[in-house]
Amino acid sequence: MSSLANQPRNIGVFGGSFDPPHRGHVALAEAAIAQLQLDALHIIPTGEAWHKARTLTPANHRLAMAQLAFADVARVVVDEREIRRTGPSYTVDTLHELQQENPGARLYLLIGEDQARALTTWMRWEEIVQLAIICVAARADSAGSGGLFNAPSQPGFPVQRLDMPPVPVSATDIRQRIAAHQSATPLVFESVARYIDLHHLYQTA
Ligand code: ATP
Repeated sequence: MSSLANQPRNIGVFGGSFDPPHRGHVALAEAAIAQLQLDALHIIPTGEAWHKARTLTPANHRLAMAQLAFADVARVVVDEREIRRTGPSYTVDTLHELQQENPGARLYLLIGEDQARALTTWMRWEEIVQLAIICVAARADSAGSGGLFNAPSQPGFPVQRLDMPPVPVSATDIRQRIAAHQSATPLVFESVARYIDLHHLYQTA
């Protein structure tokens, strides 16, 4: 078989701080794999996130937790490229790399609706929407979006909706619960909860 025949055709890209990864992330990944018939889904923990004000947990921990959280999801690749990059990491660079590595593949960028609303503030967003089909998952969390993404599409680029019930969980909730000495399960998987415990993560909010 030629190497081209081995190339995945539908590739999902799901980036985030994953600080920590939780059930909402995994639900989104599973819905996308099924609905978009993905051949591979790259889970890409961000390196130095330019758009997050908070200092992130060290990348080695976020990477290890992502490996645990997605361990049972077939076709997932936990992809280290952004945490290996020095300096700020930009989605547009990641998409260019994946396109070069997978000539002819269709790229799907998976995002929650909170991020979708902000997409036009991302570095070179016009290139992002040329490189990938933007797939948006409804979001309901204590931050109060209410799970409604009122605009059917963002101005200037098409959006594909993922069909999944909103999962009311955010990493912020989880960090706050742990800092308040409350249990983070079932919002995170047992394996991730054990890791957090073992490494004393999120002890302060
Ligand atoms: P934080 O609370 O620290 O901002 P988060 O829970 O939003 O974290 P991220 O790692 O920042 O998690 O999110 C990565 C991606 O997953 C983003 O596109 C985000 O919108 C999406 N996402 C996170 N939680 C959910 C959820 N419960 N349902 C759908 N999408 C989600």
